[in-house]
Amino acid sequence: MGFVPTMGALHEGHVSLVQLSLDRGAKTLVSIYVNPTQFNNPEDLAKYPNTLEKDLEMLESIGCDAVFLPTAEMLYPEGLKSRAFSFGCLDLNMEGAGRPGHFEGMATVVTKFFELIQPDFAVFGEKDYQQLCIIRHVVAEENWPVEIIPGPIVREVDGLAMSSRNLRLTPNEREQAATIYAVLSKACNEVDGFTDVETLKNYCFETLNSEPSLAVEYIECCDALKLQPVEKLDPNIPMRLFAAVRCGNVRLIDNLALF
Ligand code: AMP
Repeated sequence: MGFVPTMGALHEGHVSLVQLSLDRGAKTLVSIYVNPTQFNNPEDLAKYPNTLEKDLEMLESIGCDAVFLPTAEMLYPEGLKSRAFSFGCLDLNMEGAGRPGHFEGMATVVTKFFELIQPDFAVFGEKDYQQLCIIRHVVAEENWPVEIIPGPIVREVDGLAMSSRNLRLTPNEREQAATIYAVLSKACNEVDGFTDVETLKNYCFETLNSEPSLAVEYIECCDALKLQPVEKLDPNIPMRLFAAVRCGNVRLIDNLALF
């Protein structure tokens, strides 16, 4: 059985993960649960979009076998508490630094799901690349018999990474949000034109911040395995470029392979 955890407000990105599981010939279960313990911002939790009826239709139409819609009482009978984990150095930067408690909450709910569902494999999107690395680490560390399958980022026509939070953007913000991919992909495609990491990061930072609705939270260049910031651009080392950008009141993240 394949398992795809989601927080609902499903889009083509989620569908691609379900399809990955179905294509492996597996019975596929999708969970839809907005997990409070992974939200460090109460407004983000309160405003998280809910399109349950449409989600269920979408899942049925692609042949998903089962949907799990747990309640907080079912998952957290003892109250909304996160478990303790060791994430190595994977959570020191980016989302780990900017969203205290986020990964503990995420890993808590995912390990509870693994206990309840006991899937053979679970599919996670590269959209949340740091989350994917952390889950791989937890599964290895705790000897979970669950294979972790990565799914590539699905994008809108203008390149914006699909996200449930995109539903909260105004039309004007939505237009400016496309700059995130435009800038990151330009930096990755023209990486040879940058003398060093700082120049590349500054280019992204300044170009994004020049859009009136955008405010960069971080731009980071990290090695693709340990997620440590790199000091030198080295084509022999797999590296990724990461960004978190506020667009109006909505916080968006994206990442792309540099090498
Ligand atoms: P979420 O509902 O945002 O918690 O996401 C559930 C799963 O879908 C996570 O593994 C995400 O990384 C993945 N996901 C979200 N957006 C995308 C996307 N645009 N492309 C591929 N996977 C995605």
